[in-house]
Amino acid sequence: MVDGDSKGTIDTVQVALRIRPLMQQEIERGCDECIDVVPGQPQVQIKDLAFTYNYVFAQHINQQEFYDTAVKGLISKLFQGYNVTILAYGQTGSGKTYTMGTNYSGSDGDSTKLGVIPQAVADIFDFVEAHEDKFIFKVSVSFMELYQEQCYDLLSGKERGHSIIEIREDINKGVILPGITELPVTSTADTMMVLERGSFGRVTGSTAMNQASSRSHAVFTIVIAKESRTDKNIATTSKFHLVDLAGSERIKKTKASGERLKEGVKINQGLLALGNVISALGDGTNRSFISYRDSKLTRLLQDSLGGNSLTLMVACVSPADYNLDETVSTLRYADRAR
Ligand code: ADP
Ligand code: MG
Repeated sequence: MVDGDSKGTIDTVQVALRIRPLMQQEIERGCDECIDVVPGQPQVQIKDLAFTYNYVFAQHINQQEFYDTAVKGLISKLFQGYNVTILAYGQTGSGKTYTMGTNYSGSDGDSTKLGVIPQAVADIFDFVEAHEDKFIFKVSVSFMELYQEQCYDLLSGKERGHSIIEIREDINKGVILPGITELPVTSTADTMMVLERGSFGRVTGSTAMNQASSRSHAVFTIVIAKESRTDKNIATTSKFHLVDLAGSERIKKTKASGERLKEGVKINQGLLALGNVISALGDGTNRSFISYRDSKLTRLLQDSLGGNSLTLMVACVSPADYNLDETVSTLRYADRAR
């Protein structure tokens, strides 16, 4: 737990469940909904199971309400020097990218459609503007993709094969990514242009790569350095990771077969390792015993999960009955995180 403001303490790991609405084609196909939100409680029921989280967002909750309730309060923590990580977990098609706003391409001027990234960036620059008389702020962004245990720099402007980044740990600086493109940004528009450029690099290319994009983690990182104008010793640097995780469907298929995978079906090591790390953090396991080294994803996030950092896991689910098994598996994964 860390000190909160008016609300007292905040859990270092919080879990929000978000249920997307049925899609038009699901309604046309006659799909029914198979998940019920308990009124007035952060709880859901599915079959004969019940799960409770820090937040539950039902189908009708829009982007703005989601952001204001679960995310907005974390922005001020960044400026106090905490690292913040927001992760979107769920099967492909459950609303991860919609929620995070990773594929930003405008929202037709409708702020109720903006995902977490554009809304958070706007709040960050509002804060910067309001405090610039007392502090010097430096904001920079990087954008990477983790695919099959390789880390790619989406902003390098180079071909994929030439944009591979290594992850190192430095005793003083924490996790470092030598050579990664870190672009200084000075406005929301500026930052959104960078995001758009990076996500374009992610989805162009062959059909095979489009499929791969549901199996890769997209990590958008905003680094904020703040220094007092009167005393250089009053300074903080924080990392804000916004992670659109790979589709979780592979994990379940593996588990369902109850054995180790055969024939090159690669489970997503990152999701497994992340689940273990987050669940250990929730158990109060001593941080030095947590196995961050089991995947690139957890190594990358090592100094931003646990310790002096705040994590919000957003579990995204479909309400449709044909997704029931995947939905239950996401609810269980998120339940371990609490
Ligand atoms: P994922 O990234 O998990 O594969 P997407 O974010 O692409 O899933 O969402 C799948 C589809 O559902 C998209 O067409 C998206 O616009 C829509 N969608 C997801 N969540 C919501 C929501 N909360 N409200 C309205 N539409 C949503
Ligand atoms: Mg997506």
